[in-house]
This record gives sequence, C-alpha cells and structure tokens, in this order.
Amino acid sequence: MEQRRVYLDNSATTVVDSEVIKEMQPYFSDIYGNASSFHYFGRQAKTALDNARKKTAKLLNSSSEEIFFTGCGTESDNIAIFGILNAYGEKGHVITSRIEHHAVLYSCKHLEVNGYEVTYLDVDEDGVVSVEDFKKAVKDNTLLVTIMHANNEVGSIQPIEKIASELKKINGKRKKKIYFHTDAVQTAGKLYLDVKKLGIDLLAISAHKFNGPKGIGALYIKNGTNILPIAFGGHHENGLRPGTENIPYISGLAKALEISNAKIEEYNKRVFALREKLKEGILNAIPDVTINGSGSRAVSNILNVSFNYIEGEALLLMLDMKGVAVSTGSACAAGSSGPSHVLSAMGVNPVASQGAIRFSLGYHNTEEDVDYVLEVLPKVISSLRSMSPVRNQKTFENKE
Ligand code: PLP
Repeated sequence: MEQRRVYLDNSATTVVDSEVIKEMQPYFSDIYGNASSFHYFGRQAKTALDNARKKTAKLLNSSSEEIFFTGCGTESDNIAIFGILNAYGEKGHVITSRIEHHAVLYSCKHLEVNGYEVTYLDVDEDGVVSVEDFKKAVKDNTLLVTIMHANNEVGSIQPIEKIASELKKINGKRKKKIYFHTDAVQTAGKLYLDVKKLGIDLLAISAHKFNGPKGIGALYIKNGTNILPIAFGGHHENGLRPGTENIPYISGLAKALEISNAKIEEYNKRVFALREKLKEGILNAIPDVTINGSGSRAVSNILNVSFNYIEGEALLLMLDMKGVAVSTGSACAAGSSGPSHVLSAMGVNPVASQGAIRFSLGYHNTEEDVDYVLEVLPKVISSLRSMSPVRNQKTFENKE
C-alpha cells in the first residue's frame, strides 16, 4: 500500500497553486522575450512585467515604482539592509530582534564584523518584541531598524505599526531619517499587507510561502528612500537589482498574491480551526508537552510544540517514515543542530527546545490530515520516549 503523505511544513514552502501555474505557463513558451528588448517579443514581456508590478503594488497598497522584483525573500532582505546602509555612506547603529530569520540575522552579524553596531531586541515568552525596548534602543547614530512581521518558527506577530509610529515621532526630531524594514515573508498571503498602514519604508516578501513559485521575491521601497544597489550589472528594476527579469515567476508571484489575498479570511478560518484541532489533540493525548508561543499573538498556521525527553530530529525522522512532513523547531546551522535561537530568546529551556517541532498548516490541509497525525504521533512519541536516556534518567530520579 502506498504511504499516506501529510504535508505540515507550509512555513518552509507551499505547493504552487494550479491557477498560478496556468498564469506562468505562456511566459515559458509563447511570450518568452526579454523585457529589455525593444522589439515585439520584448514589448510583450515588458507588458507582462508591468502588469505584474501593478498587481503586486495594488495588493500591497503601494505604487508600481515602489515594487522591485528580486530572486527570493533572502535577497529582498539583503538589498533592504545593505542597500540602505550603503546609501548612508557611514557606519552606525542598527536595531533588529533576536528572533529574525537568518536572512536578516546573519546580515546583521556581517554588519558587526564590518564595524557597525547592532542591537538585538529581546522578546517575551510569546516571541514578541517590546515597543518600549525599541524606543530605549534608539541611539544618535541609529540608521536602520529591521524587525520581522511574523516569526517563521513560532509565528509571533511583531508590533510593526506601533514601532513605525514611535519611529515617526523619533524621526520628526532628527536630521537623518532612520529607515524601517520589515521581513514580511511569513505574513504575505496570511495577513493583509498594507504598507501605508504598517508605516514601514521597506518590506520583503517571497512567493513560495504563499503558493507561488520558489526563487522569486519582491521588495517594497517607499518613494524617496535613499538606497543603493548591492549587485551591479544592467539597468533592470530601476537600476536597483540587475539581471534579466524572470517574467514567468514574476507573473506567478503577482498571481499567487492575488489569489491568497482574495481568500485570506477563508484561509485563516480554515487553517486556524485545523491548528486548534491539532493542538487540542496533542494536549489531550500526549503528556509532557509545551506549546511554544501564544496562538493569539501569532499567524494562524504555525504550531510549535516541545515534546519533552526526545530529540526533535528523531521525531521528525520517525514522522517522515509515517508520511508526516514537519520541521524541527531548532535551527540547524551548518548542518549541526543546536537549540533554536528563537526558542532560546523566548526563554524556552535547551532541553525543551531540543524536542521542539514546528507544524505549519496550509490551505490544502484537511481534517483527515490532522486526524492522521493525531493517530500516529502519540505512538511515535511513546516509542521514542521509551528509548530516551533523559526520560529514563528522569524516571530514576523521580524514584529517589
Ligand atoms: N524570512 C523569513 C521570515 C522566512 O521564513 C524565509 C524563508 O524561510 C526567508 C526570509 C527567506 O526566504 P527565501 O526562501 O525566499 O529566500
């Protein structure tokens, strides 16, 4: 019998929507011109590019000139951070959080190596930064703030609007503006992204997180922002991001954002119900588990759970053998697993952090998927725990 497969790793990536594939198809075969060419084929591609930019801009409540297509979310973050700082032409201070994706975190580490000062804001037990901490962190030489919209491991939503409004007041009293970038890779398609309402200057998204293709991202940059390119070549994307535009993927990104925005409420209702069912099922059937982060301050699709006395990696492998795809809560750096920097920042102890698993649901998941997980998970956990030296040690200690 074929193995049943349940995909619960939608924060890592999502299936490409069939309508998105349909949208992209003609640009591989019929409309294949280079958007920079002046002839008919080029003009056709340029029209598609313009339309995708217009559509993306409208969905983010920006204007077309403020949208720049990039190769992925990571590249959008890098252009935002290094592009802004290069334009300043002086070293200074940057504020970020301790729970950023590595696209931002490692960029900030690189800045430190190169003479910048970086403040990494703490988070509370739900993985949320404090606006007061942010205000206290601002210095005379602060140049940039980069704080993610929602975290990719626990889903915690950051108070971006509030930080932006405080920053506006701070900027009102300064000669040099402090720019505000947000990595919205985990919120695009899940929350309505209105760049004006958010009050940020830059915002990064990535299509493969909202049922679009991999390898295509976008960066919103508010008009008037002083930014320089970080790679050099052609004049594409208004001179900011050189390289022939990937028309099929760009069209796919715009279509995927359009589709996901159109069903955002339905998505959240559906995915939230599935997550709650999974959470309740786990809490009812399995002892010694902790939910990391609070669902009420997080995106609807992520459930991060610590299963005490086991290794997350072992659980991931056992679940994979049963056909269930999840991700460990711990971030693997250079192939070696250590406790997740996000869970550590939230105060989760290293042992609980080692046994953390991220379940991330998507639009295509069903109640049957959750039922299947709840059928196999308790058995897998009890079999792993029966082999766990930590658990056995604990039992021994308890007897003393
Ligand atoms: N930022 C966040 C919050 C993410 O979750 C991810 C992907 O996991 C990225 C950035 C990087 O996006 P991409 O895979 O498109 O480079």
